[in-house]
Amino acid sequence: MGTFLDRFCPDLCVKNISDIDLDGLKASGYEALMIDLDNTLLPWKDSCAPASSREWVERAKALGMKICIVSNTHYPSRMMKIAAELDVPALAGALKPRSHGFSKAAKMLGCENAHVVVVGDQVMTDVLGGNRAGMYTILVEPMHPREFAGTKVSRVIERIILFRLRRLGKLGNKV
Ligand SMILES: [Mg+2]
Repeated sequence: MGTFLDRFCPDLCVKNISDIDLDGLKASGYEALMIDLDNTLLPWKDSCAPASSREWVERAKALGMKICIVSNTHYPSRMMKIAAELDVPALAGALKPRSHGFSKAAKMLGCENAHVVVVGDQVMTDVLGGNRAGMYTILVEPMHPREFAGTKVSRVIERIILFRLRRLGKLGNKV
């Protein structure tokens, strides 16, 4: 059971992207960030990233980190507009938790999967997909309680997984 649960285990849990130690990741050899869109960079259905997210993206860029938005969104035009505003590339229809989208984005950025950090708010898509791709995974808390109906269903399973991982001491009680 431990091995099965490990696939869903993030390497790190933080409250939001601003809490991520970008300098530390850079110093550890990570070169790129694959960031989820909804409820990670901005609240679901919002059309504009908040100042905190824009500042974070600028800070990552200033450190020389490559960034790509990787999303399962059904509205790629909305995502492309946000990506254009942040001046970062984006990959729509990533089909997370399949690892293919993450690997494709890494190739696009010219990075090895092992040097990529995946950041997202969902265990069942972002963390599982990033782990499958052999990337470093960071789980953030969702920015807003509003979300896609399908996501609400997977949150039930996510809560059970996180509860069990926490009980096994694998989350460091950070969530
Ligand atoms: Mg999300």
